[in-house]
Amino acid sequence: MNLVVIFGPPGAGKSTQAKLLAEQKGLFWFDSGKFLEALVGDPARLKEKRVREARKIFKAGGILPTPLIIGEVLRETKRLYQAGLGIVFSGSPRLLPEAQGELPIWEKLYGRKNIFFFLLDLDERTAIKRNSDRLVCKVCKNPYLSKYSGVKNPKHCMICGGPLYKRTLDNPIIMRERLRQYKKRTAPIIGYLRSRGYKIIRIDATPAPYKIFTKILKIIEKAS
Ligand SMILES: [Zn+2]
Repeated sequence: MNLVVIFGPPGAGKSTQAKLLAEQKGLFWFDSGKFLEALVGDPARLKEKRVREARKIFKAGGILPTPLIIGEVLRETKRLYQAGLGIVFSGSPRLLPEAQGELPIWEKLYGRKNIFFFLLDLDERTAIKRNSDRLVCKVCKNPYLSKYSGVKNPKHCMICGGPLYKRTLDNPIIMRERLRQYKKRTAPIIGYLRSRGYKIIRIDATPAPYKIFTKILKIIEKAS
């Protein structure tokens, strides 16, 4: 069983790769953002004071307490492990303390040799260009890059026919700040993982997603 983590700046295609791994390798796609959103919206969990407090923070657009994130992610990780599932994380751990809190348990469950860290490399210019070209379906949230969709200015989603729109957080000024934050947050995590003897596998994120996926798959299969 594998545990795979995909790092990369916004626009590098982390979710696309995670989704492909989930579909083709039978891994569980652990999207921490969605997971935490579901947690604070779960009526059964709102009996707990700390979850109620987290819900308030979440609704105000704040960042949830790190101990809560670590505790909940690990609880879910253990559940998935016991169910016999491998996991792919995209976009998390986001902060060094999360990585420090989660990695030792991941190692105990999945074993060091089954844990992979990929870093999707994308230069700032390309990341900004991709994000400003990106459209998202209002209904099913499927993203569209005109480069890959084969349609010049798509108006409707190819999956559900819903209207496509440009997210406000995909504009160049916000993107530059998101990239800066990403670098600042991720560098210490990479340093920590290296200090624990992990190889961070860098992959050029400019080719088409399916080509990147072939590379990732090859590396994982060769090692297992
Ligand atoms: Zn759609």
